[in-house]
Order: sequence, then C-alpha cells, then structure tokens
Amino acid sequence: MGKHTVVLIPGDGIGPEVVHAAQKIVEATGVEIEWQTVEAGTKALEKYGTPLPEALLKSTRRCGVALKGPITTPIGAGFPSVTVALRKRLGLYANLRPVRSFPGVPGRYQDVDLVIIRENTEGLYSGLEQWVDADTTEAVKRVTRGASLRIARFAFDYARRHRRKMVTAVHKANILKLSDGLFLECAREVAADYPEIEYRERIVDALCLNLVLDPGRHDVLLCPNLYGDIVSDLAAGLVGGLGLVPAANIGEGMAIFEAIHGSAPDIAGQGIANPTAMILAGAMMLSYLGEEEAANRIEKAVQEVYIRGERLTPDVGGSATTLEMTDAVLSRI
Ligand code: NAD
Repeated sequence: MGKHTVVLIPGDGIGPEVVHAAQKIVEATGVEIEWQTVEAGTKALEKYGTPLPEALLKSTRRCGVALKGPITTPIGAGFPSVTVALRKRLGLYANLRPVRSFPGVPGRYQDVDLVIIRENTEGLYSGLEQWVDADTTEAVKRVTRGASLRIARFAFDYARRHRRKMVTAVHKANILKLSDGLFLECAREVAADYPEIEYRERIVDALCLNLVLDPGRHDVLLCPNLYGDIVSDLAAGLVGGLGLVPAANIGEGMAIFEAIHGSAPDIAGQGIANPTAMILAGAMMLSYLGEEEAANRIEKAVQEVYIRGERLTPDVGGSATTLEMTDAVLSRI
C-alpha cells in the first residue's frame, strides 16, 4: 500500500506524551505515513487567536484521517470544547469505543467485550444553553430523526460486519418521552432490518447497574451523546481504567482517532501517563486505512506486554514511565 497522510493533533496535558508514543509504535510497523502536525486548544488560542484553527479543519478534510490527543476544555466558562466542535464541524457522527478486558490487568472483570456506539453530534451537546433570568438556566437537548436513524444504522451495520449478537439501545424515555422517545423509535425502525441481531432497550440507570454487576451480558450499546460519554468511562473502569480504551470518531469518508480519556492535568508532565489507549487508537487508525496486518501486530504487542506484566505504568499497577512502557510495546512489534 502507498504512503498515507495523517493529521497529528498532539493536544495538551498528557496529550503530546501519549500521542508521541502512538506515533512511534505506528511508525515501527513499517507503514509509511506522512504526518501533518497541527495545534489545537490553548496553544492554538495563544498562537492563532482561536482554539480551533481553520487550518486544522482544512487539513483533516483533505487527509480524511487524524490521530488526536486530548484537549483541555475550561470548566464553567471560556471556549467551548474543541473536541466536540471538531466532531460537529466535520460531521463525525459516530463515536466507536471498543471496551475489552485486558489479560494481565487487575480489572474487576475478565470477560468484558463491549462496543459503545455513541451519537456524536447532538443531544445535550448541542451547545444551546441560556440564562432565562438571573437565577435560572436552560440547556437544550436536541434529538433529530436524521441523526438518530444514522447512528442506529451505523450500530447495526457494525454489529453485522463484526458478527456481534445483540444491540442494546440506551435511553431515559420514561422521563424524556419525546427526545429519547424519538431516539428509540428510530432504533426500533432500523432494528427491523437486521432480524439476525437481537435488539434490546435499557434505561440508562438500570444499564449502569447491570454493567457493574455483570458486564459480560452486554454486547453493542447504542447510546445518545451524553449517556454514551458516561457509560464509556464506567465501562473503562470495569476493565482497568481510562488509560486503556481507544475511540474512533467516524463520518462520511473521514475519521479522527483518539483515546477516550482527557488531558489528565493531575499527571501531565510527569511522564507516567498510560499510552495504551492512544496506541490502540493508532491501531484502529491503521485498520481504517486498510493496514489490517499492522493493526493486529500492535494489538498483539500491547496484549503481550500486559500478559507479561512488564513495564506497566502506575495506573495499571506498575511503576514504569510512559517511555518505558512504549519501548516494551515497541520491542514486540
Ligand atoms: P481525564 O480523562 O483527563 O482524567 C480522569 C482521571 O483519569 C485522572 O485522574 C487522570 O489522571 C486519569 N487518566 C486519564 N488518562 C490517563 C492515562 N492515559 N494514564 C493514566 N491515567 C489517566 O478527565 P478529566 O480530568 O475530567 O478531564 C481533564 C480535561 O480533559 C478537561 O479539560 C476535559 O474537558 C478534557 N477532556 C478532553 C477529552 C478529549 O479531548 N477527547 C476527553 C475527555 C476530557
């Protein structure tokens, strides 16, 4: 296969540390990649006066693929989330998060094999918030038929392609009868076209309980935006933490690969961030680029490092640095 061009967004906090690790591992597979590095977030704000420079959108549209580190979003004030804006501006409507138990990781369960598919463009992330009066605020949860049908179709297509047995739509339609009601209506309509895949519905709070008690019973989870965000972190906790789970944001002919974790300001700069999620995001990216064999090699190398329990970072019970763990993976590629 020829050379691929990929946009590299280092992000901030632990972003540059783990993105660099992923870049090294991807390169070690021998797949030829030309990286176009672009800043976003606070660094871009200082340099270009905006946290989301047009150049970043342009490069990603042109290349069609990006590997992205986490970007800090100020809490309660300041600029809106760059990550959310990127997903919306580029129409990356599906957020795909495979959550699997890692042999060798002291997670609570050894039989987790979930795929979380999160609607990525609307719901409570519409950004429509306002003051009603001096003591009252409102946020709009926007759910459209178009986006709901599209994400449901994505989930069932994914399940069919990957021979998954069951899709569970996650909702709170007992309370949010119109918005989550529409999401469910669309999921049911699409489910009818996939008779070989079992379709279920679960209220989000009950699902969280079930996930904690018996995660092995679940398969593909089709989630509206906010529930998908929350359920993803819960699921990551079941398999050993946020440092382990990768994600893909997928649209029409375009995709951005990242970790599900954020910029982890509490450990940034210490060189102890777990690079696994970002390395596995790199493997997902290679698979998307058609480089299946290289992607498999990375996954196997990461698994071996965990099975042997060698040079793991502190979050998964070791005492290695990000660089040492990256080198351990590198030596098995
Ligand atoms: P976080 O995911 O950054 O951190 C939560 C906890 O998990 C912290 O204790 C952190 O140290 C730990 N952790 C996360 N990644 C780790 C890793 N690779 N190795 C070891 N430990 C790890 O969540 P947060 O603290 O709520 O958010 C921090 C910032 O990140 C916020 O500004 C938030 O908006 C942003 N964020 C960005 C993205 C993204 O860009 N995709 C996603 C989530 C959060």
